[in-house]
Amino acid sequence: MGRLDLHLHTTCSDGSVAPARVLAMAKTAGVVALAITDHDIVQGIPEALAAGAELGIEVIPGIELSSLHGQIEVHILGYGLDWQDSTLAGRLARLRAGRHERNPVIIERLRALGLAVTYEEVLALAGTEAVGRPHIARLLMQKGYVTSAKEAFDRYLAEGAAAYVPRSLPTPAEAIGWLRDAGGVPVLAHPVWLKQSGESLFRTCAMLKEAGLMGVEVHYSTHKPQQTAEYLDVAKRLDLLVTGGSDFHGVTKPDIAVGVGRGGLEVPTALLAPLKEAAARLR
Ligand code: AMP
Ligand code: ZN
Ligand code: FE
Ligand code: FE
Repeated sequence: MGRLDLHLHTTCSDGSVAPARVLAMAKTAGVVALAITDHDIVQGIPEALAAGAELGIEVIPGIELSSLHGQIEVHILGYGLDWQDSTLAGRLARLRAGRHERNPVIIERLRALGLAVTYEEVLALAGTEAVGRPHIARLLMQKGYVTSAKEAFDRYLAEGAAAYVPRSLPTPAEAIGWLRDAGGVPVLAHPVWLKQSGESLFRTCAMLKEAGLMGVEVHYSTHKPQQTAEYLDVAKRLDLLVTGGSDFHGVTKPDIAVGVGRGGLEVPTALLAPLKEAAARLR
């Protein structure tokens, strides 16, 4: 009985809901175990563990790292990692510093386009070190420049849009190595973002496995049934673990709910034991 949600963002990165409240929403949705996977930060994990202990929800420490393979952004989730590892802390601090190099340039572009925004306003709204484009989108929403985060991304923030600025990112192999160094199981997030299928998808996943990847996020809020089936097949052929999650962010993805995604997401609880066994073997 119950379900999993192994992909959740909180106010510790670019989500709009605090960890304890995410746990409460998970309880309502019938989630029995979950992972907090904030971008480049582990700050939300202790609050989630405490709330999980109270609500009877198992909390797997997690994280999400962005990497760049050629022109494609590849996100890697890490599960069961030692979130207090000091080497990891240094690497994450550098990733967050990279965000503070990029974000002010985005703000300059927006100002050049005539939008009255400052980075100080973004920082105040974010209230965390892991500041991302969704925070900028929220500021644009608050100021009435756009009516949704989607509009903010489409007009200004997405790759190719008017205020887009790239961020310096590790390669997938580096990100995977950093996760494994901290005892985390590296899993390819939302394979739909690769925009690949068939042989090219298989080759990309095989390359990532060579680099140390151990799983694929087969179940995801925006995967169509046919995509879920293909990702499951690739995971089976490459002997990779299967995971799943909603990628809940709160207000910047208002159609995505904890545990159920757009309503039809159901991540089977049977996926948890193999993931935990793999994490235990890495320790
Ligand atoms: P960043 O980490 O600053 O590069 O921002 C990337 C994050 O923005 C992703 O992880 C998504 O959570 C979010 N994002 C990307 N595209 C959109 C979109 N169209 N609408 C809302 N959020 C988005
Ligand atoms: Zn995000
Ligand atoms: Fe992602
Ligand atoms: Fe995510």
